[in-house]
Amino acid sequence: MLFKWLKRRRRRRILEEPFPDEWNAIIASNVVHDRQLLADQQRRLREMTQVFVAEKNWEGCRGLEITDEVKVTIAALACLLVLGQNNVYFDHVLSILVYPDPYVAKDVEITRAGVVIEGGQTRLGEAWWRGPVILSWSDVLSGGRRQQPGQNLVFHEFAHQLDMMNGRTLDGTPPIESQQHFQRWVKVLQPEYERLVHACRHGRRSFIDCYAATNVAEYFAVITEVFFENSRMLSSHLPHVYDILRDYYRLDPAHWSDY
Ligand SMILES: [Zn+2]
Repeated sequence: MLFKWLKRRRRRRILEEPFPDEWNAIIASNVVHDRQLLADQQRRLREMTQVFVAEKNWEGCRGLEITDEVKVTIAALACLLVLGQNNVYFDHVLSILVYPDPYVAKDVEITRAGVVIEGGQTRLGEAWWRGPVILSWSDVLSGGRRQQPGQNLVFHEFAHQLDMMNGRTLDGTPPIESQQHFQRWVKVLQPEYERLVHACRHGRRSFIDCYAATNVAEYFAVITEVFFENSRMLSSHLPHVYDILRDYYRLDPAHWSDY
């Protein structure tokens, strides 16, 4: 209780500072989704970004300098993911490690539970329970600027973090408030996942990358990317999947304005 009160007070203090103009310029350049948001959503995104930047430990790897641009871009994208949810700041994520590019990781313990590592030996990103989120800056940028259609590394890695918030395991299911919504979630997404696995095994490609067929955790992370980055395609081809994610994220990107 005291901890929550202190946290709320600390966040109020963070928000007493005005949002810097330079940070608006960073969002304009690197988080193009912002242009599609309503004014109150943009305001909320900036508040959440301020808190997120202030509360995380930031560490540059392989010579990458942690600048405001790095922090604000990653924070705004992570917060965009949970913009519709109530006070989700990924409190269990303490640190963000950023490499300049996809990196070859060494000496990383990959056997403990709650670890997910993307991209085989050369990695784009990683998500660890109570550990750091590790990201490749070049992939963060290309996602925020929508240079790789349908892909967004920050959404992907932070979707894994949402997944871990439900019992700390990667089971493709984030915390879901109502039992009814949970039952709908399983009823819709499980057969869709199995359909995708079957299609990918037989070489049938669709707008959902076959990386989603790796396991249910990757399925949730990849359809989260599709939900935000290819929302109209998802809404028209798999409306029941779109609706489940719309109800969970409490956002409706298929109906956001064009920019
Ligand atoms: Zn993943």
